Amino acid sequence: MKRILLEVFLVAALIGAGVFGFMNQKQASVSKAKITELNAAVEAAEKSAKEKEESIKGAEEEMQALQQELTTLEGKANQLEAVKAALASGSTLSDLENAYKKEKTLSAERQAGMGALRMLTKGTEDPGALEAFRKALQLSELGDRKNTICAAQLGLVAAGEKIKVMADCLPKSEKAGSGDKEEKDSHDKDDGKGKKDDGKGKGKDDGHSHGKKDDGHGAKKDEKHAAAHWDYEGEMGPEKWGKEFPTCGKGKSQSPLDIKGPFVKSRMVVSADYKEGALKMINNGHTIQVNTPPGSKLRVDGIVHELLQFHFHKPSEEKIDGKPMAMVVHFVHKNADGKLAVLGVLLKEGNENPGIKTLWANLPKEQNVEYLPEGVNFNPGNLLPREFDFYSYEGSLTTPPCTEGVRFFILKTTVNIAKEQVQAFPFKMNARPVQPLNGRELLSN
Ligand SMILES: [Zn+2]
Repeated sequence: MKRILLEVFLVAALIGAGVFGFMNQKQASVSKAKITELNAAVEAAEKSAKEKEESIKGAEEEMQALQQELTTLEGKANQLEAVKAALASGSTLSDLENAYKKEKTLSAERQAGMGALRMLTKGTEDPGALEAFRKALQLSELGDRKNTICAAQLGLVAAGEKIKVMADCLPKSEKAGSGDKEEKDSHDKDDGKGKKDDGKGKGKDDGHSHGKKDDGHGAKKDEKHAAAHWDYEGEMGPEKWGKEFPTCGKGKSQSPLDIKGPFVKSRMVVSADYKEGALKMINNGHTIQVNTPPGSKLRVDGIVHELLQFHFHKPSEEKIDGKPMAMVVHFVHKNADGKLAVLGVLLKEGNENPGIKTLWANLPKEQNVEYLPEGVNFNPGNLLPREFDFYSYEGSLTTPPCTEGVRFFILKTTVNIAKEQVQAFPFKMNARPVQPLNGRELLSN
């Protein structure tokens, strides 16, 4: 009996042990699965934490960049406020206005400067600012001066005017991706290669810049862009000017002309009274231009036209009976009504020209910077012949934007220039081809 009991007990114990073992084993495997599961969860959690960390890091960086931008903008806003505050009394504006009062005609740059100063002093509502920017635009279009054009256009827009702003004037972000930019850049490259001797001159015809040339340094690259708008040959040559400057293509009174009879007898009385003054020269990328101080005059039937500047074309733009001369000087004048008059003096290959000698000895070394060689005076009258017989007609600027309403007087008497002097002119060719007469009267006195 004892033995049976013992066996029962043993069996029971064995079963118990078995069950316990089984239970334990099961539990272990469950735990193992749980651990694997938990491990995976931990890993996932770690991974997501890492991802989150990274995205947080990214967000932080973005935030930092934004903050930096904000600081920059705040800095700029503060600068602008400081400038405004400094000008608020209006005394700087009145000082400048007084300083300019003596001058009858202000350069495009000075007009734009006045506009900006007025706007900062009196706000965008100021009609004087509007007027100054309008004048600056008018004047600078004559000269293809991009910086001033941009200043004037953006100034007018700021004052609420609805005008079209040149693509080049817009901040970079606004024109990103427009084919325009690429186009301009490739022109820049071309410019770089061709540089000086590729004859990209232009006779910036009637860009009169009385005062200072834009701003020198920073302006340089932009000016190059401006120059890429037109050229004397290739993709931007005279045949293509009309695309960007409609008057150049559609105008019916364009310059220059092939001057040949029949002529209508002119009774106009024309005389020049040019004064000596400090020499100011600029190579604007299209021609060599001398900006003349106030005081030199051209009288047409007694009406005074103030000399603004003179510049050169090679060969002469005008032809006489189909033939061009070696070069021509264009003296650009303006009367009180804003009407332009150009006096053309043809330069013929021959003896050395002493006036040209002085000018060429002081040629600007850099483009788009006005040079004032120290102690050098020049009298534009040195480039005039003694006789003043002329041909005359109603024409246009011979450079974009080819604005019409310009009275031309081409002197019949030529002035000599040495072959070497013609060769020393830093442009190979900067003459627009002759334009159709379209029934215009050609006068001769
Ligand atoms: Zn010209």
